Amino acid sequence: MSTIFDRILDGDIPCHRVFENDHVLAFMDISPISAGHTLVIPKERKAKLHELSDEAAAELGRVLPRIARAVCRVTGTDDYNVLQNNGRTAHQAVFHVHFHIIPRPSQTVGLG
Ligand code: 5GP
Repeated sequence: MSTIFDRILDGDIPCHRVFENDHVLAFMDISPISAGHTLVIPKERKAKLHELSDEAAAELGRVLPRIARAVCRVTGTDDYNVLQNNGRTAHQAVFHVHFHIIPRPSQTVGLG
């Protein structure tokens, strides 16, 4: 099933890119919970985390901390949530694996 993230990967719809290599793309969430809310996706087109190949998973694991570091630097906070939903019941809305990096500046209260 094609998703909106496939269309972003194909360049059919724009996004604000913050990181890209051969395996991973990171871009700003269109509806951010907080300033700097970033989505990190593998270029491998799978809906859920457990469906990813070992290679795609390894590359995600390698770059996620680097992207989180950049988000911290740009937003000026080093408090953040990493959120990753799998399946409709778990509140996944876009069925392409993605990690949310959600900065939590000190004035943020609750889980947004
Ligand atoms: P989920 O609930 O699936 O974990 O989160 C999907 C996320 O994708 C949401 O935070 C939503 O705002 C974001 N999103 C949905 N469509 C687009 C889009 O076209 N562009 C961008 N940048 N983010 C999107």
